[in-house]
Amino acid sequence: MIIIVKNHADKGQLDTLLQWLKGQGIQPNLSVGTQQTIVGCIGDVSHVDIDLIRALDVVESVQRIQEPYKNVNRKFHPADTVVDCSGVKVGGGAFQVMAGPCAVEDEEQLLTIARAVKAAGATMLRGGAFKPRTSPYSFQGLGAEGIKLLLKARQETGLPIVTEIMNVQHLPLFEDVDVIQVGARNMQNFELLKELGHSRKPILLKRGLANTLQELLMSAEYIMAGGNSNIMLCERGIRTFETSTRNTLDLNVVPLLHRLSHLPVVIDPSHATGHAWLVPPCAAAATAIGADALIIEVHNDPPHAMSDGVQSLTLAQFATTMAHVRQLRPLACHDR
Ligand code: PEP
Ligand code: MN
Repeated sequence: MIIIVKNHADKGQLDTLLQWLKGQGIQPNLSVGTQQTIVGCIGDVSHVDIDLIRALDVVESVQRIQEPYKNVNRKFHPADTVVDCSGVKVGGGAFQVMAGPCAVEDEEQLLTIARAVKAAGATMLRGGAFKPRTSPYSFQGLGAEGIKLLLKARQETGLPIVTEIMNVQHLPLFEDVDVIQVGARNMQNFELLKELGHSRKPILLKRGLANTLQELLMSAEYIMAGGNSNIMLCERGIRTFETSTRNTLDLNVVPLLHRLSHLPVVIDPSHATGHAWLVPPCAAAATAIGADALIIEVHNDPPHAMSDGVQSLTLAQFATTMAHVRQLRPLACHDR
């Protein structure tokens, strides 16, 4: 349920309403916007007399919300959420590009890539330390050592770092990480999501291989229900009947998620396509359709990459892609 508050409502009366709602076992969430002030109500509202609320002096109108996701719902929070990633802002008109290797392999590899993506205009550095691999015999990532290397790369380049968590027990290792990525395979690891809800770190939440947008939003709701609203929703391709690409890039999600939620939307054209040559056009399309950020895999030597080399851009290809993205960004759709 949302309560739309009258413009210039009396603050004392509004506070009384908030207290009364709490007394009814409802958690009121006040969202003060430039146009409207809204009280989002979470909890069982079935016993609440809506007509009683409607009759109050401070209340303009009351609406029941049908969707199961509340905190992440744009109806609860009409303004775009801007996620601050250690000073680099995503959403609400701020656009960023995260780039780097699929996996952190060694110091030289990471620093070479970090310097190059920064020079090309990337504003965050991605790199996996813990890698979710289909085969147990594939490179599993450097683990804690990989995080140390990312921190070193951040120290040198100033780029905030984005890296994936796979296990809730690893959380202490992520203390100095700027953005915690929840990968596609963990989108519904609810215990992990609950734990991340208690943190205040920005979370890059990737859509699962075969999950609906509603399921993605419900996963974000898990994090936000714990009090952490620093969430970026990431489309990274879904599994369809098509086999010519690794996944199918669902670009519809950009305007759709912007309509349904206030959270920023990130597009990953690397995992969505699985082919380096498809990444630049898909990055361009994602920029034009209004994505708030891109996350792109880049490698200094893709044929010898320890994971996802086929979809990784070379340093030069990334620079060209960035030049194109920069040209397109001012033309991007901004429908809400
Ligand atoms: C990755 O970003 O390298 C990754 C494993 O992504 P996803 O979870 O989208 O497959
Ligand atoms: Mn990868």
